[in-house]
Amino acid sequence: MEAIRLFGINDELVEKYNCSLCGTEIKYTYEFKNKIYGCECIKKVTGHDVSYWIVENGKINVEATEKRERDRKGEMDEFEAKVLKNAWIVEFLEPFTQNNDFAYNLMDTLKQRPIEYLSERQISIIAEMYAKSSGKKGSKAYNEKYNQFYEMLK
Ligand SMILES: [Zn+2]
Repeated sequence: MEAIRLFGINDELVEKYNCSLCGTEIKYTYEFKNKIYGCECIKKVTGHDVSYWIVENGKINVEATEKRERDRKGEMDEFEAKVLKNAWIVEFLEPFTQNNDFAYNLMDTLKQRPIEYLSERQISIIAEMYAKSSGKKGSKAYNEKYNQFYEMLK
């Protein structure tokens, strides 16, 4: 990361710079291997998303930027881990989705997002479906299965 440097902000530069890759006149200029790039193209050339970099007084605060990158990665890992936890619910819903758009949409959301993206009502509908697989609504078996669903979400 140290190899890339914020060259300057074009407003402050006497000379105007164009991106070495796409040729557009650029506002935020980055230098990498003696060439100047804009923030989109520096991403392509180096693989670093500089729009997340923390710049102070024209210099990249490497420590703060790396911390933010780690935090972002941690948040993404947490998101993915939560989506993976939905696997058993997705599997349960799958047979209901053939002619049921409602069930299909619930399953589709759970395949891509943590369960918090569903409303409490939507979650309770899945809990009811799950409980009904064991017995009639209000029966002991139903109630146990209903509670078991919420236990498994923890
Ligand atoms: Zn460019």
